[in-house]
Amino acid sequence: MMRRLLFVCTAAWLAGVCLMAQAPPAIEYYRLVPGFLPEHKNEQGMAVGTGFASPNPWGAYTAYLMATNARGQRTWRIENYLPQGNTAQGSTMYLLEGSERALLVDTAQNTPEEMGKNDLKTVVRHLLGHNNDGSVKSNPLDFVVAISHGHGDHTGKNSQMNDRTIYFPDLDWPRNAGPNYVPIKEGGGPSEHGSGTAVGEIALGGRTIKAIDLAGHTPGSLGFLDTENNMVLTSDAIGSGLVWAHFGSIARYAESVRHLQAVLKPLDNPAILPGHFYQISMGARGKPPVNGKPLDKQYVDDQLAVAEGVLSGKIVGVPYAAGARKVMVAKVGSAEMTYDPASLGAAGSPETR
Ligand SMILES: [Zn+2]
Repeated sequence: MMRRLLFVCTAAWLAGVCLMAQAPPAIEYYRLVPGFLPEHKNEQGMAVGTGFASPNPWGAYTAYLMATNARGQRTWRIENYLPQGNTAQGSTMYLLEGSERALLVDTAQNTPEEMGKNDLKTVVRHLLGHNNDGSVKSNPLDFVVAISHGHGDHTGKNSQMNDRTIYFPDLDWPRNAGPNYVPIKEGGGPSEHGSGTAVGEIALGGRTIKAIDLAGHTPGSLGFLDTENNMVLTSDAIGSGLVWAHFGSIARYAESVRHLQAVLKPLDNPAILPGHFYQISMGARGKPPVNGKPLDKQYVDDQLAVAEGVLSGKIVGVPYAAGARKVMVAKVGSAEMTYDPASLGAAGSPETR
């Protein structure tokens, strides 16, 4: 399939000049990195046991090489499995390589690991320290960390990262923030946290990642946009098939989805990369005709349709089991959304799990 070329329009655009950039790289979702194990799942798409069929030298982790762009900069999907009874809960991280440094988005769950052998930092260093053919890479890049939102299944290994910058959503700012935490929000600007100024983007050298405010799942939920590589990392902000939007107001959530829709409008079939990747093959999204296809613009449109449908009263969900609160779940196409009927238009409580 021909991919549309990206036109990069800088200040020169005013003079009617645009520079033609390289086409964004094709995304592959299931290309395992040599030495890592595939996940072991049941018929419902849930990981069983430890998440892996045989002993995993990488402990709770596995990794997929998603893309290598024309500059040689790579993008990985890293999965982390936390056993809970007979199944294992998956949490997804992404590693984006620039020319000067790399960015790890999220630190997943607090899974047991052997330091120096199969801990998260060792996994990331292994990926950055090898070429795609498996040979050792000379002068591998170091990495910084960005967090999508304040939930514990995305911040589980932050304590391991005290020796490097952690960009943390300004409006999800944690009580235990270390001196290495830097607030981040769309557009940057004044902040009550850190040094008093939030950043709006992270430059990796020839690759810049922009924060996009996507409040709803949590007040500070962020997306990370990489226009040139035609991808946006949305973590839990719009779910991975089903979004937990019952923590806040649905009006606010709908506003965020509308904003994401506008941000993605100029992009041709961007990769939308969620925080619990395995869930795309579960629930409504796992069934025909979608059959577990990774998230796309249609999913964003469906999320907006379900939020607007609930707000207008045209869609009424069914009860959803989520603790003691009265929570409903509603569906449009392959997109599902939980909501609190008592918190549709009003500002919701900034409760987190
Ligand atoms: Zn979350």
